[in-house]
Formats: sequence, C-alpha cells, structure tokens
Amino acid sequence: MSLKIVVLVKQVPDTHNVTGDAMKPDGTVNRAALPAITNPEDLNALEEALKIKTALSGTTITAITLGPPGAVKTLKEALYRGVDDAVLVTDPKFAASDTLATSYALKCAIEKVGAYDLIFCGRQAIDGDTAQVGPQIAEKLNLNQISCITEVIETTPKSITVRRSLEDGYEIVKSNLPALLTVTGDANEPRPPSAKRVMMYKNIENKCEPSNESYMHPDMGNICSHIKQWSATDINADLNLCGLAGSPTKVKQIESVVLAARDTKQIANNETEIKALINELIQEHIIG
Ligand SMILES: Cc1cc2nc3c(=O)[nH]c(=O)nc-3n(C[C@H](O)[C@H](O)[C@H](O)COP(=O)(O)OP(=O)(O)OC[C@H]3O[C@@H](n4cnc5c(N)ncnc54)[C@H](O)[C@@H]3O)c2cc1C
Repeated sequence: MSLKIVVLVKQVPDTHNVTGDAMKPDGTVNRAALPAITNPEDLNALEEALKIKTALSGTTITAITLGPPGAVKTLKEALYRGVDDAVLVTDPKFAASDTLATSYALKCAIEKVGAYDLIFCGRQAIDGDTAQVGPQIAEKLNLNQISCITEVIETTPKSITVRRSLEDGYEIVKSNLPALLTVTGDANEPRPPSAKRVMMYKNIENKCEPSNESYMHPDMGNICSHIKQWSATDINADLNLCGLAGSPTKVKQIESVVLAARDTKQIANNETEIKALINELIQEHIIG
C-alpha cells in the first residue's frame, strides 16, 4: 500500500530578519537584502508527507517549486529531508505572476508529474500571505481540499483523516483521495536535513547550483536525475494564463505603514479584566 505525494515548497525572503534596507525606494521588497529560506509552513507540509512515506512503504514524494533559478536551493532542502524527486518550474514567462497565475503554473506542473494521491502545501507563504495558492490549485484540479491542517490522523490508500483548526476550535475531517491539504505551523516540528542525504546529494548540489539569478538555458534542463527543470513549454502552459498576462491583480499603490502606539493600558492578571479587554478589542474591531 503506497501513495504518490506532491509537496509544494516556495522559496521566500526571510521576513523574520527584516533590516533597514528590506524595502526599495519604490516600496517593493528588496529580495537581495533578505536571506532566502524555504517557507516555514512548507516544511510542516513536507514533514507530514514524510511521516506518511515512513508509515506506508513504497510511498514516493515529489517536491515542486515555481520561482527563479535560485529557488533550486529550496528543492535541495527538500531532498536533504527525504523527498524522492524535485522539480524546478522556472521561466521568465512566469515573472510577475499573481496567485491566479502562480496556481495555474503549479497546476500544469502537477499534471505533468502525472498520477498523485495527495498534494501537500503550506497554509500560506510568509511573503505573499494570501493562503490562496493551495485552494486555487485544488479548484483547478477539481480536487477535494482540506485547509489549515494541524494533524494527519490516519492515511489509507483511499482516504485521509485530519484535524483542522477553526477560529473557535477544531474539526476532524475525512476525505477520499486524491486530495489537496494545506498544513499549519502547529502541525509538527519539521525534521532537520539528514547529514547522510546531504552527503548523498552533494554532487547534485554542485551540478544544479546556478551561479547567478539569470534563468538557466532550456538546454540545461534535467541536468541531474533528482532535480528536473521545467519551462512553461514543458508543462504545456497557456502563456495567456501565465505571468503578467495571466494576472488580473493590479497593484495600484504601495505604502509603508508604521504603527505607532499612542497609549498603553495595563490590566490585572484576572479573568474579569482579561474578558473586559477582549470585549473592548472586539468592539473596536481589532479582533473577532
Ligand atoms: C500583481 C502581482 C504581481 C506579482 N509579481 C511578482 C513577481 O514579479 N515576483 C514574485 O516573486 N512575486 C510576485 N507576486 C507575488 C506572487 O503572486 C505570490 O508570491 C505567489 O502568487 C504566491 O502567493 P502567496 O505568496 O500569497 O502564497 P500562499 O497562497 O500564501 O501560499 C500557500 C502555499 O502555496 C504553495 N506555493 C505558493 N507559491 C508557490 C510557489 N511559487 N512554488 C511552490 N509552491 C508555492 C506553498 O506550499 C505555500 O505555502 C506578485 C503578486 C501580485 C499580486
């Protein structure tokens, strides 16, 4: 009894380490000033997939990322942790994609991977923060989707049972396979890279490391057996649905908002005062 799993991993700027030069004068993110990391919740998604791989022998995991050539580092992180194959979807034609165009390109890549039982995504990326890409892919592939998963309870060849968080609690949901799942940071503690696998994939690292952020020439695609490189043509993408052409979102203005606390309020550590504060915050529409 084995499953075919796809995990979507995104390379993001590390927004936990924002410095003074994190924004450019035009208000866009200065990616060069921020270290690139794998989106934290994608590591939680990967961890759930790896646990299923351990439990169901013969299960295989393919990691996919869409991004510039440097995003290959995120795929290596996934290989070091235990995935079997990795795909870098990269092409200048994907530049300036909004979530609709991003989910379209990833959907095309998943279709090219072929048969799958489960698709795991993080709930949301720390740079875009929309939490739209997973659900959009599920819609495009006409799949069951379960979002905000905090625990995978049981996986069988035909179904998966999970716990998902709600605003005021949780629910247990069972779905037939195939299904797409988005995983939260509460689900697990992602495992570190395995030293053995780092050694195993050392040569791949040397072969696949692009020397700069320019796009690799298509002839360089599939240069190593564990990291494939696919262009828009490779995944049979309709160019009208890719990049800027496929992105209906228009950014009208970008503002840098600085929140300045004007006054502070101290409350006693008792239930009455805490409840009163919560009510106040709800009435002020700060929470709720
Ligand atoms: C008009 C517009 C133009 C944009 N132009 C650019 C641009 O030029 N360059 C740029 O870098 N960004 C650009 N973006 C941002 C880009 O659209 C988002 O980063 C992307 O769509 C993912 O959305 P998100 O970060 O909100 O992901 P979420 O929906 O929060 O991510 C949820 C999950 O989906 C998966 N996922 C998301 N994106 C990827 C990915 N790329 N690869 C693999 N898995 C993924 C991950 O598992 C992730 O945890 C633009 C956005 C807009 C609105």
